[in-house]
Amino acid sequence: DQDVAEYRKGLSIRISGFDVPRPVKKFEDCGFSAELMKAIAKQTYENPTPIQCQALPIVLSGRDIIGIAKTGSGKTASFVLPMIVHIMDQPELAKEEGPIGVICAPTRELAHQIYLEAKKFSKVHGIRVAAVYGGMSKLDQFKELKAGCEIVVATPGRLIDMIKMKALTMLRATYLVLDEADRMFDLGFEPQIRSIVGQIRPDRQTLLFSATMPRKVEKLAREILSDPVRVTVGEVG
Ligand code: ADP
Ligand code: MG
Repeated sequence: DQDVAEYRKGLSIRISGFDVPRPVKKFEDCGFSAELMKAIAKQTYENPTPIQCQALPIVLSGRDIIGIAKTGSGKTASFVLPMIVHIMDQPELAKEEGPIGVICAPTRELAHQIYLEAKKFSKVHGIRVAAVYGGMSKLDQFKELKAGCEIVVATPGRLIDMIKMKALTMLRATYLVLDEADRMFDLGFEPQIRSIVGQIRPDRQTLLFSATMPRKVEKLAREILSDPVRVTVGEVG
């Protein structure tokens, strides 16, 4: 495929799945709002990275995805930007509570980085982002969640704590991201991940990103994703 070849640029990209949308070459091809385009320009992101070229149109089409690419490849924007579009596409649900987008990451540092990235793009549309991870006061976090948010970025353990404290529910969640899934498994978060996934409606859109795909992560992906497209960038997997 011409497009795939063009984006290879020394990297190898493998895609599997049926009726996969063609990769984009520019952010302009994604149909983002003028506000979002301005926020992207402000980041001085000139062009999408290879994983973004492949993943953005797939995720924007509503498909589940398994994205396998190493650190530094730009995975965050490939799930954050379509999440903003997903949230803006929701009908007004003023009375409903809880996040629409739920992002799980293995460590508080990673969750915090994603939180910062999400805020850059969400604020242009007045979308609220909450960060939920250890090291912060549970009471403060409880209050922040009670005030309302459309996006929550969390480590699995603390998110479970907050759900138990009834700081939030997963009733409105329709977009789930598991980032660095292999590391979450290494840290023993599989039960917490399964518990969180079990509380989110099955017709959600699910995105799983990982640097490697050990057997246990592959098994989880088979169980919780629906007809996913698999995108592999680089010499991994
Ligand atoms: P990953 O999650 O794959 O490790 P990140 O999403 O953290 O990668 O991105 C790595 C770095 O690349 C970050 O500093 C981010 O701001 C930057 N970045 C992401 N997308 C682009 C882009 N399209 N153009 C330039 N820089 C980008
Ligand atoms: Mg990352």
